[in-house]
Amino acid sequence: MATKDLLEAFRAVTGPAGVVDAPDAMAGYLTDWTGRWTGQAIAVLRPDGTDQVAALLGLCHRHGVAVTTQGGNTGIAGGATPIPDRDHVVLSLDRMQRILAIDPAARTATVQAGTVLQTLQEAVADHGLTYPLMFGARGSCTIGGTLATNAGGSNVLRYGTARALCLGVEAVLADGTAISDLQGLRKDNTGYDLRDLLIGSEGTLAVITAAVLRLHPAPVAVTTGFLSLSGPEAALGVLNALQDATGGLVEAFEYMPAPLIDRICAHTGARPPLAAPAPTGILLEAASTRPSDRDAGGLEDLVQDCLAGLMERGLVLDAVIAASGQQRRDLWAMREATAESIMAVDGYIFDLSLPLSQIAPFLQVTDAEVARAGMTALTVGHLGDGNLHYSIAPGGGAALGALRARILDRVAAMGGSFSAEHGIGQDKLDLMAAYRDPARLAAMRALRRAMDPAGILNPGKTIPDAP
Ligand SMILES: Cc1cc2nc3c(=O)[nH]c(=O)nc-3n(C[C@H](O)[C@H](O)[C@H](O)COP(=O)(O)OP(=O)(O)OC[C@H]3O[C@@H](n4cnc5c(N)ncnc54)[C@H](O)[C@@H]3O)c2cc1C
Repeated sequence: MATKDLLEAFRAVTGPAGVVDAPDAMAGYLTDWTGRWTGQAIAVLRPDGTDQVAALLGLCHRHGVAVTTQGGNTGIAGGATPIPDRDHVVLSLDRMQRILAIDPAARTATVQAGTVLQTLQEAVADHGLTYPLMFGARGSCTIGGTLATNAGGSNVLRYGTARALCLGVEAVLADGTAISDLQGLRKDNTGYDLRDLLIGSEGTLAVITAAVLRLHPAPVAVTTGFLSLSGPEAALGVLNALQDATGGLVEAFEYMPAPLIDRICAHTGARPPLAAPAPTGILLEAASTRPSDRDAGGLEDLVQDCLAGLMERGLVLDAVIAASGQQRRDLWAMREATAESIMAVDGYIFDLSLPLSQIAPFLQVTDAEVARAGMTALTVGHLGDGNLHYSIAPGGGAALGALRARILDRVAAMGGSFSAEHGIGQDKLDLMAAYRDPARLAAMRALRRAMDPAGILNPGKTIPDAP
């Protein structure tokens, strides 16, 4: 079908507001957040409901038009930017932002997939509840995008990734067939779990149009602090001691070593949280829903007593506990300024995960190697999850290429992964081919072919072509 006729057919489904084809108006959808990827499309489609998504995908399927689904466009693997292929559309969920239901008794929320994460968090806060997925992009990223990438962030330690927070999805398959699983069942062993298959599939198997999400009671007592540890090898002992002392209330245990704190302070003008440099700095947060934890002898005292014991043992060298809401916000503002502070010096950011026992040895060897190469390691990490955003600045040139390859080989040899939470997109296809075993890749290709025989959903992403 000629492009003009195709656009007419799309408009017949959505009305004029749902099809954008003027280059200026499309531009924002065609370049990703990092500015590393720019694509082309014949149109951006903006359906305002699942029926429209189904009708549009049906048309794309029949006419062989490739579809890149897009939420908030905050992904950092290039997954939401079309690659040069056949005729291509971006399917944006930005008109599907309705919160369909909040059930305080069942502690669930049902939302359209284009709902912005922070909007949901603010809505459920009115009910004394929280949707505890936490990271810097929460003001722009969408529930559909967080599910499609199985996003993580700083609270995974306690609440799990997006997968653990999702009870069911509604989705449209490549041929336009809608499937729905929005009953909020906690248990449902009826064959293959399509929800789990779609979570983390990065828009290659279906378009997620709605989801029912698990909510948690909002904490009423929060203790936030910054610790200086004797070294990375002390970190797991400190985390476990704090978990034991608080009954598992640690929500965040973020690795923020001294070079990273220096970089953030230089970028934002903030002051370091501790007077002396903390080579192994940790942003700690513990939170409780028990009102009595606000009182003397409550959560903060438990944390302080535990830290005092850890100081006596020489595992913690120094610590500050936020004395006010403002101090807590300042600590988190530093954490959330990490990505832009690293990118401001052209840093290269890995997304590694390692077995917990391998983190300290990995940091020891790799930090020394980066220093020998005359570069700076600006690592930040969700340490309790074994997830390091190991970063190197400056991040360009041949020296980085060789270093990157050695680091990735080391991660593989230590039993780790090159993609912990950001996904593959178009950024890491070469790593999938190099480090994932061929049998696993073949199974993924077979699944993809079965669910999308015409190959229209996010072509050129996530799973590398067969050699
Ligand atoms: C400052 C900053 C900090 C970040 N911190 C973290 C972090 O700590 N942890 C983390 O995990 N990520 C982090 N990210 C990455 C990013 O925010 C997440 O990957 C987020 O989940 C992407 O959501 P989105 O709506 O922007 O998706 P997009 O970027 O629009 O899309 C991402 C992928 O999902 C697919 N997709 C989007 N919506 C749908 C849908 N409805 N159905 C099917 N497929 C879909 C797209 O095709 C693409 O492949 C960060 C990003 C930024 C900019």
